[in-house]
Amino acid sequence: MAKKPIDQNDNLLEIRDLKKYFQIGENTLKAVDGVSFTIKRGETLGIVGESGCGKSTAGRTILKLYDPTEGQIIFEGKDLSKLSNSEMKPLRREMQMIFQDPYASLNPRMTVGDIIGEALDIHGLASGAKRKERIQELLSLVSLNPEHMNRFPHEFSGGQRQRIGIARALAVEPKFIVCDEPISALDVSVQAQVVNLLEQLQEKMGLTYMFIAHDLSMVKYISDRVGVMYLGKMVELAESDKLYSKPLHPYTQALLSAIPIPDPEIERNRERIVLEGDVPSPMNPPSGCNFRTRCPKAMPECAAAAPQWKEVEPNHFVACHLYN
Ligand code: SF4
Repeated sequence: MAKKPIDQNDNLLEIRDLKKYFQIGENTLKAVDGVSFTIKRGETLGIVGESGCGKSTAGRTILKLYDPTEGQIIFEGKDLSKLSNSEMKPLRREMQMIFQDPYASLNPRMTVGDIIGEALDIHGLASGAKRKERIQELLSLVSLNPEHMNRFPHEFSGGQRQRIGIARALAVEPKFIVCDEPISALDVSVQAQVVNLLEQLQEKMGLTYMFIAHDLSMVKYISDRVGVMYLGKMVELAESDKLYSKPLHPYTQALLSAIPIPDPEIERNRERIVLEGDVPSPMNPPSGCNFRTRCPKAMPECAAAAPQWKEVEPNHFVACHLYN
C-alpha cells in the first residue's frame, strides 16, 4: 500500500513561537526558545540535532507533558496551550508518544496485556472479552504473537519491547505520535524493522508522526520533511530530499558532512566540516545567532542580532544572516 499524497494545506498541528524555559536556581534554561512550524496531516516530520538541542523537550511540550512557557500549539484548530488538564484529557487520546528506551518505559511488574490494556481502561475503550480481543489485535498489528499477552517485558527482546510500546500508543487510536528517538537504543539490525513497521502503520491508519532523532541517515529515510534544531531554536526546515541535497544553514551542512557515504571513492574525496568547540550552555547562549561561536562562516553582524526565520525558497526555511 502506498502512502497517501499529503495535502500541504491540511495542517494537523501548527506550532507558533513555542518556548519552554526551566528555572534552575537563579538561572533560566531556555530548552526551546521560540520555534514555529507546521505538521501536515499524514506526514512524518523529522527533527534532528545534537543531544541537548531541545528536540525532545519540544516534542513533550507539544503533547503538553510540559506546560509551554509561551507560544501556541494549534491541534486541529484548538489552541492546546490554553486548555486545562481536564480539557486536555479527551485530546490526550489523539496524541501519543513512543519513547526511546522501550524497557524503561514499560512497567516490569505488569504483563504486556495489562500494559496495553491500561491505555484502554484509562479512556474506557473496552472491557471484558472485548478488551482481551483488542489487546490481541494490537499485538498482531505490531507483528507480535497475541498468545504472549500474559508475558512480562523482560521476556522480550529490545525490538519486541519497542513493538509493545508502539502497540500501547496505538491502543487509543491516536492521530498524532511523537516518536522520541524510538530506534536509538536498538541494535542496528532491528532499527530498520521498527522504522518499516512505523511506516506500514502510518499507511494503514493515516498516522502523523514527529520523528525525533540524532541519526540523520534514518531520519532521511522515514521523513517527508526535516527540521534541524540547535540550542533551542529551529535553524532550517525543508523537504527531506531538498535538505539533504542542498542544505543552506552552516550547521546543517556540518551535520550532513559527518554522515559516512558507502562509496569509498566519494568518501575519500569529499570535504568534511569539523565544528570547533562544544555546544554552549542553553543557560547562557551567545548573543545574536546562537551558532556563531562554532560557525565557520560567522560574520560581525552574527553577534549583533539573531537571524530571522525566513522562507528562502518555497517550503525551505532557514535562520541565518547569509540569507536574511
Ligand atoms: Fe553562521 Fe552567522 Fe549564519 Fe549564524 S547567522 S549560522 S553565525 S553565518
